[in-house]
Amino acid sequence: MTQSKSIIDRFLDIEDPWSLSKTERKDMLVGSIIEAAEHHYKNNSVWRRLCEVKNFKPTDINSYEDLNRIPVISTRAFKGGFDLLSVPSKDIVKVHMSSGTSGSRSRVPRDRITLDRNRISILKTNAKFRSSDPGYLGMMSPSPDEISDLTIANYAKISLEDFSSYDFFLRLDGGFNPEQVVEKLNSVTDRPVNIGGAPMLLLGLAEYVLKTGNRIHTMDERSAVTAGGGFKNAKGQVVDRETFNRIVMNAFGTKEENIRDVYSMSELNGVLPECEHHLKHVPPYFYISIRNPANIDEEVPYGEEGLPVFIDPLAHSYPGFIVADDIVSFKTAPFKTCECGESGPTLATKVRRAEGAEEKGCGRHVDELSEQLSS
Ligand SMILES: [Zn+2]
Repeated sequence: MTQSKSIIDRFLDIEDPWSLSKTERKDMLVGSIIEAAEHHYKNNSVWRRLCEVKNFKPTDINSYEDLNRIPVISTRAFKGGFDLLSVPSKDIVKVHMSSGTSGSRSRVPRDRITLDRNRISILKTNAKFRSSDPGYLGMMSPSPDEISDLTIANYAKISLEDFSSYDFFLRLDGGFNPEQVVEKLNSVTDRPVNIGGAPMLLLGLAEYVLKTGNRIHTMDERSAVTAGGGFKNAKGQVVDRETFNRIVMNAFGTKEENIRDVYSMSELNGVLPECEHHLKHVPPYFYISIRNPANIDEEVPYGEEGLPVFIDPLAHSYPGFIVADDIVSFKTAPFKTCECGESGPTLATKVRRAEGAEEKGCGRHVDELSEQLSS
């Protein structure tokens, strides 16, 4: 007898999960999360211990509202060397790392099951929120084949599956030559010509174009500019989104609605793309809640800023029950409809790193986790 498919995998099989009714979506999400919670409770001693401390059992989940009770792990724990495996270490195929300085990098272990689910989630989300036809993609980043351990490379590699042709313009040593980029983009025959990458490199290219007048003639109204990885420059200064959009529009002739940021983190098996209103859509596979940095167990009032909690049932090799040290706010409530016509939840355009007192929220959470596990 063949084993019946898990709810999670049936959820991923659905052609367009955004089209499900509110009740169907809730049922699939709650069912998937119960399955995931039971798996991690049974196979992950760190998370089980945390559940015991918080007086929680997976059997406590009976409804959507109960999902808020699931104990979460700070993404900082993935930087701190906790053993967060829920499968034997021999099953790990890839350890994805966040970019950033070596001491602050997350290390996220993925087995084949998690990698396959991660890929489907990203492809379906990209297809839903694509700002233009795939055509050609010029990426201002190193080739994923050279930096395959980086989360961002994993995302780029999966996203490329949809494009007819592509190039990578950042050398591994950091070398980036805008003149060569313009020359290459002007020789591309596939349409539309889209570009993507870190905001600062996209700005570098835009500023070169504006300064020299050496234009990219192949980019037009249909072209999309997709940014990912945060709007901070090397000196740590934040470039505001309005300035970024204006420079990009001037340099490349891109329509503002086709300039999109993608928000994600190494620990999440998917991405939050922007719609044409620049709101970040949470895919139906994840439960999200926004918490008070001073008390991670408490939700902030709707619309206020806080730390995002994601309950990600696609993670099989580690518990995908996480709280990140970013500051976000809801713009569309779960199951309400965004201005773009797709159902929410959505987050406001601006996402920033938690700083100062807010940052201590996640730090304190990891300290508590250490204490609880050692006591
Ligand atoms: Zn929208």
